[in-house]
Amino acid sequence: MHPVRELTHLLLPVACPCGEPDVRWCARCAALLAGPFSRVERGAPRLDRLDGVPPVPVWALTPYAGPVRDVVVHWKDRGRADLDRLLAPALRRAVRRLGPALGPVQSPAPVSAAHGPLAVVPVPSTGAARRARGREPVAVLARAVTGGLRDAGVPAHLVPALTRTGPGRDQVGLGARARGRNLAGSVRMTRRGARALGKRSVCILVDDVLTTGATLAAVERALEGCGHDVLGATVLAATPAPGARAAERRAMAEGVKATYGSEPESVTDLCRPVHR
Ligand SMILES: [Zn+2]
Repeated sequence: MHPVRELTHLLLPVACPCGEPDVRWCARCAALLAGPFSRVERGAPRLDRLDGVPPVPVWALTPYAGPVRDVVVHWKDRGRADLDRLLAPALRRAVRRLGPALGPVQSPAPVSAAHGPLAVVPVPSTGAARRARGREPVAVLARAVTGGLRDAGVPAHLVPALTRTGPGRDQVGLGARARGRNLAGSVRMTRRGARALGKRSVCILVDDVLTTGATLAAVERALEGCGHDVLGATVLAATPAPGARAAERRAMAEGVKATYGSEPESVTDLCRPVHR
């Protein structure tokens, strides 16, 4: 190693969260996060609805497994805010590719231009998580999604409309049932959010990781309860559906981004009928 580099490394050691030394993130992890999106809502049981409406479409960059899990954990909870510069552009690029298919939903039916620009709504962290982290990592992703939509010519604005209330704690480490209980009644609209969304907006949700879908389902209920429509959600990563895990792991070991579900092909595929 070059002496200057060696000295810098001794003073300021850097490594990719997967363990690869001397780089902030490695090419393999970047490739896993490079997209394009896959539809993943079928792997999230808590997104199932009792009213016969199909689950909200969720687009994920990659499975939440292997080195991707390390990247996300370090980014969120181990002080690696520098990974914003890996994750935000990756998400923005993928949304840019999704954008042309989303554009037509602005008009005509089922969503008319009268609804204004798409509202990009980040899933709010719990107060405890926000205090522990000193920031809202999901806000970084929501800005990237808004940017990606605009890049694609889709009018969009960022609306941090929601907040978490009550005893809800961070979902990490909770089982499916506990997640549901933890969230019950814990997402609500802020006054400023209500003003920004107006009477009826069409929303795209943004979160970091999709697991059971309990969080997204609570956010969807909160928005729909206030008269808004949820078109879909974008996440960095999604827990692989049961049964997919072995294949995901094999694919990751080969350094290939595993996909599950198919890429959206048409607007019809992208849009959930508005159900009011
Ligand atoms: Zn890596």
